[in-house]
Amino acid sequence: MNEFAALKKQIPGVRRNVLLKSHTTFHIGGPAKYFFAAKTNAQIVKAVQVARSLKLPFFVLAGGSNVLMPDKGFSGLVIKIQNTKYKVRDTKVWAEAGVPMATLVRETGKRGLQELEWAGGLPGTLGGAVRGNAGAFGGETKDSVVDVEALDHEGRRRKFSRRECQFAYRSSIFKKKGYIILAATMQLRKGNKAKIQAVAKEHMRYRKERHPLEYPSAGSIFKNCDLKETPETIQAQFKDVIKADPFPVIPAAALIVRAKLQGMRVGDAEISEKHPNYIVNRGNATANDVLQLIARVKKEIKNKFSIDLEEEITFPH
Ligand SMILES: Cc1cc2nc3c(=O)[nH]c(=O)nc-3n(C[C@H](O)[C@H](O)[C@H](O)COP(=O)(O)OP(=O)(O)OC[C@H]3O[C@@H](n4cnc5c(N)ncnc54)[C@H](O)[C@@H]3O)c2cc1C
Repeated sequence: MNEFAALKKQIPGVRRNVLLKSHTTFHIGGPAKYFFAAKTNAQIVKAVQVARSLKLPFFVLAGGSNVLMPDKGFSGLVIKIQNTKYKVRDTKVWAEAGVPMATLVRETGKRGLQELEWAGGLPGTLGGAVRGNAGAFGGETKDSVVDVEALDHEGRRRKFSRRECQFAYRSSIFKKKGYIILAATMQLRKGNKAKIQAVAKEHMRYRKERHPLEYPSAGSIFKNCDLKETPETIQAQFKDVIKADPFPVIPAAALIVRAKLQGMRVGDAEISEKHPNYIVNRGNATANDVLQLIARVKKEIKNKFSIDLEEEITFPH
């Protein structure tokens, strides 16, 4: 039996040659050799087991809002996380990894539950947010997480307490070890419904006004720089732009502005004028264009400020 037939037998619904650009907010990425949209935890677990048993490389893709998929595509199985069940009981929310953050913000807001307002306008899923400890407007995913159910390398379903999640700035144990998140429980608080909804809405408005949402992108390309780790001369030079979100940082955007890199372009990939930590796809940008642009920015910032910028986005090989 050939590989595709073996896959189809065990995970019905698997498809061949699916263009990944249609599954990423960057609108970039070649074909996945195989592509499976997993709608339940059981289907996610099964797809991983099958890929492992066939020795097929696999990649977990969710909202596709923090990835740069290669132009050559992915020569294995892409497992698209689409488990979308959730339950709200009193102030606790349990949700599967594939639930969009927009759904959680909306549904908890409606019930007058606060803690997720910071995520107003955040693209992607709960699983993606937990893995990267996504954050904005002073809030982070970790703030409300009680526990997370994930699949480890041995294929065991395990529960991780908040402490065991090892959350850090844009990081977690799931990111470090490549564990697959199935679901998470969050503890929220009762609050004023109108106020909660207004705050989330204001964040959405802010994003529309300040971020280049008119072009495809993957959000911020670089992590902000931990102030403690930057040379003192640079700290002094940037003291007017230091912000505490979630701890004192020099925003990567400020470094890019002062290095005068806004508008820099490789092919159709461009450093946004509107938000300089965004690279936007002005038409038919390739992953290669984006990677070249990232390399140029890193080199300029290193030369000018002796800072090594670190990518926030994921680039599977
Ligand atoms: C316009 C725009 C604005 C953004 N603003 C912000 C912001 O303010 N703050 C911020 O932190 N981020 C921001 N982002 C980035 C992005 O939205 C977040 O990182 C988001 O949490 C990613 O979720 P996702 O479902 O899209 O993940 P994907 O992009 O699909 O995946 C990202 C990574 O997570 C892994 N992954 C996804 N789901 C799982 C899972 N269930 N288990 C294990 N691994 C998984 C993938 O393998 C991949 O490595 C922005 C992006 C865009 C496009």
